[in-house]
Amino acid sequence: DIRASQSGKDRDSDFEKALRPSEFDSFSGQDKIIENLRVFVAAARMRGESLDHVLLHGPPGLGKTTLSQIVANELGVGIKITSGPVLDKPGDLAGILTSLEENDVLFIDEIHRLSPIVEEYLYSAMEDFRIDIMIDKGPGARSVQLSLSPFTLIGATTRSGLLTSPLRARFGINCHLEYYDHEVLERIVLRSARLLGVKCTAEAAHEIALRSRGTPRIANALLRRVRDFAQVKGSGVVEPEIARYALEALNIDRYGLDEIDNKILTTIITKFKGGPVGLTTIATALGEDPGTIEEVYEPFLIKEGFIKRTPRGREVTELAWIHLGHSPEGRGM
Ligand code: ATP
Repeated sequence: DIRASQSGKDRDSDFEKALRPSEFDSFSGQDKIIENLRVFVAAARMRGESLDHVLLHGPPGLGKTTLSQIVANELGVGIKITSGPVLDKPGDLAGILTSLEENDVLFIDEIHRLSPIVEEYLYSAMEDFRIDIMIDKGPGARSVQLSLSPFTLIGATTRSGLLTSPLRARFGINCHLEYYDHEVLERIVLRSARLLGVKCTAEAAHEIALRSRGTPRIANALLRRVRDFAQVKGSGVVEPEIARYALEALNIDRYGLDEIDNKILTTIITKFKGGPVGLTTIATALGEDPGTIEEVYEPFLIKEGFIKRTPRGREVTELAWIHLGHSPEGRGM
């Protein structure tokens, strides 16, 4: 499965890095967020201050890491990147915080996975740029306060519902990333093709965009695979026919839905007659966490018109019935 191989591999991440926009101007989509960040970044620069702490939330692959690198770049400062699960002890965090230079950006991915003690340690760092560190061990141990250079924390999370309220309250800027429209993804595919030196027609880019689950990371990964097909089976140019052929061969759903999306729809249809059914009931039937379904999967299914939220729960739409080869009239078939 192409999506299973999206992350983790070094080659994949080199490829992602190469296609990562580095200024606001080359970042497509998320217009409102970009517009606001441009103002906040410009204001911070004019005052020579650190930018307020920023929380980026939204489903995976929509550009949270990319955006934080752009912010650092546009601020003209350095960036250190880490993640919630990696910061095991307050000491790990202290090490990073004391290494930051004035107005630098600290990016913490999966910030909802910080351990409670590390999170608490972060509070005073975020608020007054101070931390307490322990000196010596045993009877002579004492804590001293250390001043940090002002910095900007950018926290990223796919699950904003899991953030504690004290942590959430310490972010001055809060941005929710949305799934990308097909037109924007098409632009991203064309830009990536240009950077890779691949000829790609607008129609083929459109075909790839339609099947990318609203996600630039998926769009780029699909472009790479389609390029292989174009080189081996076609003329080297990414054209609509070869794109369609490749996407069929890769078993990519016509709507770009992934395995879990399809499982959610199938479960509602086969086990609950299409709904309405409560979120926790769906989650239990799937053996998934209700929050993950609500924050990571459902928004896309709602955006694309496969699921509706009703006062009595979630209901699949006619599009979902048809997509999965059922007839809405003959429910339970
Ligand atoms: P995760 O939370 O899973 O780490 P993410 O939201 O941080 O994902 P990124 O790693 O920033 O996602 O982006 C994934 C890939 O998508 C990058 O290679 C980047 O090139 C591309 N990308 C993301 N957003 C955009 C965009 N708006 N324009 C162009 N390319 C983008």
